[in-house]
Amino acid sequence: MITNHMIDKQALAQDLYSLAPVGALPKGGVTRLAFSPEEAELHQRVSHWLTDLGAKVKKDAIGNLIARWPGQDNSLPAVACGSHLDSVPQGGNYDGVAGVLAAVAAIRAIRDHGLLTRHPLEVIVFVSEESSRFKMATLGSSIMAGLDNGDHWLDLTDSKGVSLREAATKNGAQLTKLDFARRRPQEFKAFLELHIEQGRVLEESENKIGVVTAIAAPTRWQVTLEGRADHSGATPMALRRDALAAAAELVLAVE
Ligand SMILES: [Zn+2]
Repeated sequence: MITNHMIDKQALAQDLYSLAPVGALPKGGVTRLAFSPEEAELHQRVSHWLTDLGAKVKKDAIGNLIARWPGQDNSLPAVACGSHLDSVPQGGNYDGVAGVLAAVAAIRAIRDHGLLTRHPLEVIVFVSEESSRFKMATLGSSIMAGLDNGDHWLDLTDSKGVSLREAATKNGAQLTKLDFARRRPQEFKAFLELHIEQGRVLEESENKIGVVTAIAAPTRWQVTLEGRADHSGATPMALRRDALAAAAELVLAVE
């Protein structure tokens, strides 16, 4: 078992600080959008670290980074651990990165202490987790889970007109081979992701750590409400069809 004192905290801190300047903004925060050179740079660095530790590292067809570490019985399903390395615009230094570096730190501890787990281990870095650039989230994990084949999002474009197809290809994705990136549930015993809390619940409840039992699954809708133009002075509200008032009721009903 890996215990807290086995973790090389200095190396972990150094990993974190060495990634921090990539995509760093002058006023604080980082921007490492999905399929951007900044995300690619982080993938590459983490890939080198894992290779240096002795893991077998590969990139799948969409661009997920997968590092394999042998266990006692490699026919058993893997215990996987990881997160993502892209960010929202002006994102935080720990979002995603903490989860990936925790997995790297665990592999380092296992190597340094000569431990051998029963199951093989995998560190997985999912590519393009955030939706900010293409308004489509969790691309890498959706492809790996076989929930998606990319058909309905490859032609989406970012604010500069660059298509997802173009950005992913530039990032080395093999879009005609996405099927090969699919993994079967039986290949995994468990997946663990350490993630910072981005809200205030832990802080306000004065707890240091929480275990996630469910996660928000945002759905974004674009709603058009059509009202009717009337004379605003002479038409009482009851006779009007005011689109903004209706939108306000809708918002409050959802809240
Ligand atoms: Zn995250």
